[in-house]
Amino acid sequence: MTRKPAIWIAGAGLALAAGMAVRHESKARPARMAPGPLRRVVVLGAGFGGLQAALDLAEQPGIDLTVIDAHNHHLFQPLLYQVATAALSPSDIASPLRGIIPDSPRTRVLMATVDGIDTVGRTVICGGEPVPYDDLIIATGSQASYFGHPSWAATAPSLKNLDDALGLRNCILVAFERALHAATNVERDRLLTFVLIGGGPTGVEMAGSIAELSRDILAHDDDGMRSPARIILVDAADRVLSEFAPDLSADAAAALKSLGVTVRLGVKVTGIENGMVQLGDETLAAETVIWTAGTQATPVADWLGVKAGRGGRVVVNPTLQVAGHAGVRVIGDAALALDTDGKPLPGLAPVAKQQGRYVARAILRHARGGRQPAPFRYRDYGTLATIGRNKAVAEFGAIHLSGLPAWLMWAGAHIFFLIGFRNRFMVTAQWLFAYATHDRADRLIVERPERERGIASTRARPRSPQPPVAKPG
Ligand SMILES: Cc1cc2nc3c(=O)[nH]c(=O)nc-3n(C[C@H](O)[C@H](O)[C@H](O)COP(=O)(O)OP(=O)(O)OC[C@H]3O[C@@H](n4cnc5c(N)ncnc54)[C@H](O)[C@@H]3O)c2cc1C
Repeated sequence: MTRKPAIWIAGAGLALAAGMAVRHESKARPARMAPGPLRRVVVLGAGFGGLQAALDLAEQPGIDLTVIDAHNHHLFQPLLYQVATAALSPSDIASPLRGIIPDSPRTRVLMATVDGIDTVGRTVICGGEPVPYDDLIIATGSQASYFGHPSWAATAPSLKNLDDALGLRNCILVAFERALHAATNVERDRLLTFVLIGGGPTGVEMAGSIAELSRDILAHDDDGMRSPARIILVDAADRVLSEFAPDLSADAAAALKSLGVTVRLGVKVTGIENGMVQLGDETLAAETVIWTAGTQATPVADWLGVKAGRGGRVVVNPTLQVAGHAGVRVIGDAALALDTDGKPLPGLAPVAKQQGRYVARAILRHARGGRQPAPFRYRDYGTLATIGRNKAVAEFGAIHLSGLPAWLMWAGAHIFFLIGFRNRFMVTAQWLFAYATHDRADRLIVERPERERGIASTRARPRSPQPPVAKPG
């Protein structure tokens, strides 16, 4: 069998990255410390920032650690869109927290939703009994923001957790199945129209991935699916990926076009309801509408009783502490921290991870009677976004890359930063398989019982009756 040389290049790159990543996980040895009272450190949220802090604090002498998260797993959000488009399984990008955070008598992992914080009594309120703290790290991240239109959430689901991704996967695959049974061409066109609102990395990645799913995979399954999907990416800005340099935005838009995605820029969504998207005077009929636009911080400002900054984020000082709340630090997407130029740091995984590492170090120093570290400084190692197979953009300061080299870097970097050898191995294997076969193994429509579905997936359910779909098993 002949294989494209690119497969081998990709394979070598990914295997190298997986190997490097194994070494990446080695943890600092606990420092010696004189016996004394334990410092109770509570970490809220075990996403990128919280998990990094927890890993650096776990098993350290003098530290009693409690990690609280609404979910029992750490989620690698940058690959969530691949679960939503049937390229990866949930377990490829998520790992149980109890398997990652070292098990020890002074480390607890609680699955609970934080409802508030008693800053006077220094306790966290999360369902049952309050959890006391000496030091609190808040890393509960962000959630979708519908720009003052919360009702849009019911018909335009967003992508933030595994429940959202599985709900969207069902919606997308069911739309394709129903298109086969459409009574009229108009109805089929509506079912095969996917509108993504927001041309940032998630919107671009989702649009490209749905286009490839439709063109390369579903079209080969059944003749009836050969009519291509209409994928429309809408953004009010004048370019996609506006956080990248203009030349890379242009490359991304061209790559989307080559996949058949229609990019509508400078267009504002004025209404969304039941399969209809309103763009001013124009109405788009679409069965699937996906919200990939704004986000806002989780309600940390309310919990602390402080005034929220831009995007609902909590303003923190240069050492990531909250003014007037001793021992409270906010990091990641929930924090409004400034870089050395006075600009807000972006909501990105590396920012959260570096902040997690920084606050853990600050708490350890304090516990050992040392001085506070110098102000937090974010090190930007570059930004990557993918559009599809062999299509990506990468910006490393003045170095701008697009196409295959950027795509290989994107793939290698994502494998490098996944948590755990199993996930790195599984994702590498799945991508190599998909690259060679043009197939996606996770094209499963799985009906989940009502009680297991969160609010997010309930709103992501198909809006009309389903066709006769063969259920697996
Ligand atoms: C679809 C998607 C794609 C992305 N792609 C990229 C990318 O390619 N590159 C990049 O750098 N960044 C990307 N990001 C952004 C990146 O994921 C975030 O910046 C990063 O996750 C922020 O880390 P965090 O620790 O602040 O919060 P998160 O990683 O979001 O973690 C928050 C944690 O808090 C928990 N939590 C929330 N509320 C509560 C509560 N009330 N009680 C208990 N627990 C709670 C959640 O369960 C979660 O585990 C993407 C985000 C999304 C949604």
